[in-house]
Amino acid sequence: MTVLFVTSSRRKRLRNQPFPPAWERVLERDVPLYGSLPPPDREELRGHIQVFLAEKQFDGAGGLVMTDGIRVTIAAQACLLLLHRETDYYPGLSSVVVYPGEYEAPYEEVDEAGVVTAGTDRRSGESWERGTLVLSWEDVLMSGVDGEGAYNVVIHEFAHQLDAEDGVTDGTPFFPKRAVQKHWQRTLEAEYEKLREDSTRGKVSVLDPYGSESPAEFFAVATEAFFEAPRELREHHLALYEELSRYYRQDPASWPLSTIDGGIS
Ligand SMILES: [Zn+2]
Repeated sequence: MTVLFVTSSRRKRLRNQPFPPAWERVLERDVPLYGSLPPPDREELRGHIQVFLAEKQFDGAGGLVMTDGIRVTIAAQACLLLLHRETDYYPGLSSVVVYPGEYEAPYEEVDEAGVVTAGTDRRSGESWERGTLVLSWEDVLMSGVDGEGAYNVVIHEFAHQLDAEDGVTDGTPFFPKRAVQKHWQRTLEAEYEKLREDSTRGKVSVLDPYGSESPAEFFAVATEAFFEAPRELREHHLALYEELSRYYRQDPASWPLSTIDGGIS
């Protein structure tokens, strides 16, 4: 009880600190979604960023030198998923590791016959269930860029973090009410099956075909589309859009187009 009280009053103090003007310039330059947010949401986001940056460790890897600009850009998009909600600021996460670009990572897979395949693959980001999230900076900067679709690696990996909060990464994050969780599962399962069918037929959708890999990837990919291409998602996948809108307590399809020069168009 006491620890909780100390944590919540410390966080409140952090949220109310003046936001450094240099950080505001970073948001306006490198976070296109910031320009789309209604002003009260921008204010709430700035508060969350201050808590996030005070609580999470950031480390450069592969020669990347960590800067405030990198930290603020990543924190802003991570905290976008927390707006309007009761949040404990990704309690399972302690550190964010950033590479300059795609990085090699070892993998090991066991197929149904028990045969183990091991090797390395190139990655733009990954989220571990406990402790660490890894990102490629080059890929972070691709969000909001014309021609990149609904791509947003930060939003993708942090959706995995939310998904893992109930102890299992399965495409269903924590819901306090069972009926709400059931409704979510029914909607997402139907949309997931549809994306699997569309992917095998080569039909293009606002949802990245990578979402057909598993329900967990589907939730992450759907969250990217919800924030990066909300109008298209609402038009073509209304039930999914409404489910995400209830969970995130946001309605990005209603946001005006960016009000910051140089932001999204
Ligand atoms: Zn993923």
